[in-house]
Amino acid sequence: MSSTLFSKIASGEIPADILYQDAEVVAFRDVSPQAPVHFLVIPRQPIPTLNAVQPEEATLLGKLFLVAAQVAAQEGIAESGYRTVVNCNAAAGQTVFHLHLHVLGGRPLNWPPG
Ligand code: C5P
Repeated sequence: MSSTLFSKIASGEIPADILYQDAEVVAFRDVSPQAPVHFLVIPRQPIPTLNAVQPEEATLLGKLFLVAAQVAAQEGIAESGYRTVVNCNAAAGQTVFHLHLHVLGGRPLNWPPG
């Protein structure tokens, strides 16, 4: 299994502010927050991009969203609202090639995004 930056965060090799973790999924604060609340939800399994997700990983993909909603509630942004984003490949601005769901909230968010 390749060791991505986010695999190292998931294993504890690189420190991060962990908000939730279980056997499959980890959520941690983004090191460069773009909103008052900005955290990432990742599978421990290093899937490089959304394009690489396999049908048998559909449950895992769904779990990323369930954990996003749970941690958003913990962080107090569930009622005011928040945004989930997956950047896929270069034109979308993906820089870490380990699938991750951004969750942003705590301020009004413009639409469309840049
Ligand atoms: O979607 P994208 O690949 O651009 O997002 C990667 C995110 O990972 C960035 O928001 C960046 O701030 C975050 N990051 C982090 N901790 C690191 C390295 C990157 O939270 N050690």
